[in-house]
Amino acid sequence: MRYVSTRGEAPPRDFEAVLLAGLAEDGGLFVPETWPELSAAEWRALRGLPYPDLAARIVGLFAGDSLDQATLQGMTRVAYAGFGHAAVAPLVQLDHRTHALELFHGPTLAFKDMAMQLLGQLFDHVLEKRGERVTIVGATSGDTGSAAIEACRDRANVDIVILHPEGRTSEVQRRQMTTVLSPNVRNIAVRGDFDDCQDLVKAMFADAPFRREMRLSAVNSINWARVAAQIPYYAYAALALGAPDRPVAFSVPTGNFGNVLAAWAARRMGLPIERLIVASNRNDILVRFLATNDMTARPVEPSLSPSMDIQVSSNFERLLFELLGRDAAATGAAMRAFRETGRMPVPDAAWRQATALFHGAALDDAGTLEEMRRVHATTGWLPDPHTATATAAARLLLPEDAAIPVVVAATAHPAKFPDAAEQAVGFRPALPPRLADLYEREERYSVLPNRLEEIEAAVRGHARRNAA
Ligand SMILES: *Cc1c(COP(=O)(O)O)cnc(C)c1O
Repeated sequence: MRYVSTRGEAPPRDFEAVLLAGLAEDGGLFVPETWPELSAAEWRALRGLPYPDLAARIVGLFAGDSLDQATLQGMTRVAYAGFGHAAVAPLVQLDHRTHALELFHGPTLAFKDMAMQLLGQLFDHVLEKRGERVTIVGATSGDTGSAAIEACRDRANVDIVILHPEGRTSEVQRRQMTTVLSPNVRNIAVRGDFDDCQDLVKAMFADAPFRREMRLSAVNSINWARVAAQIPYYAYAALALGAPDRPVAFSVPTGNFGNVLAAWAARRMGLPIERLIVASNRNDILVRFLATNDMTARPVEPSLSPSMDIQVSSNFERLLFELLGRDAAATGAAMRAFRETGRMPVPDAAWRQATALFHGAALDDAGTLEEMRRVHATTGWLPDPHTATATAAARLLLPEDAAIPVVVAATAHPAKFPDAAEQAVGFRPALPPRLADLYEREERYSVLPNRLEEIEAAVRGHARRNAA
């Protein structure tokens, strides 16, 4: 299995190289050179597997010769062993056709653990084999950072530096990062918003000497291995509901487009996924794009669902590449135009193709609280604010008489957002016992301005200190 860049100017790589590199040198994102496809019979044969085994089978298709199946299965079993539910990603039925896929039973209570716990294993394995070290740098609007830190803490061959926008994450999210005091972990609060943090990370990667010196690597959702590790749970849910013999729809709370892109990939691999619903908060660039082919970035506005407070959805580039018939030059040109003008020029035919599958709806904060209240009142199950945008979008966008089941990706445990829960339903959901003392733990992080030189100096200092 080889990977090509969406911008076509980086040489093809194997899974290991793509895992370690994150972003391609030409600024593009790696995608499989050809998509693995399973027949209906092959999908049927995967029904009923325990989650770690299904994950090993699916990720194995993307790893190719880089990893043998037994090694991979060992890793998925370790990665998901610490999850707080025996099914790893259980389906909870909410009404006659709506199901919540609970992706929040990992160490940081959000879906990012599903991929990140496996990524930690993969990094460890590959670096050890090669006798190498890396410095992982990442930007987070909340959940990615803690999931990455949990996956990398105390690993011998990895230093990790995570940038978060100062004051823009929830307190639980910040504490889940800043209370990890392992020597290979450093947290930086940037005076700016999430897009600033993401730009700083991209700029560090674009600084070739710095990138080489630090052996930079990424675990943001631009890393292909993360997308690959998110595909299994879409297959798990679809198979449980009768695929490949019964079609399903998914509704996904979306920020960087990584999670919903994994659902798209599951469809590309042959699962009968009839519709993909993109749910947003007031930062609704993707919903505007789907409605009117207007992808214009606006300033990011804080909302009750901070992990979706994003205006530049990095992973959209992978879908764009497919919509443009894998034309890397056209993809690169569109991405450059977007960066220069703030508006992405998508040809009408490509946009129409996207709207045949993807539908979008956005919810403001008041609507989010109302939806949390409604779902809790009618089902007894409380969605977090991110998930609530997706339960609402599913209801709004699927006609009442649509016979297909719809699976809502439940991306965070409601206890991560206790203030929103209290406003919506009048109580603060309890944290699971393993996190109960989070508010008493010591925090460690530095606050830095939105300036590349200072961030790079901090990264260099961290990596050196650990090397010494
Ligand atoms: C990261 C995150 C999202 C958005 O996922 P993307 O892959 O960025 O689209 C949604 N909900 C929660 C709780 C998250 O942590």
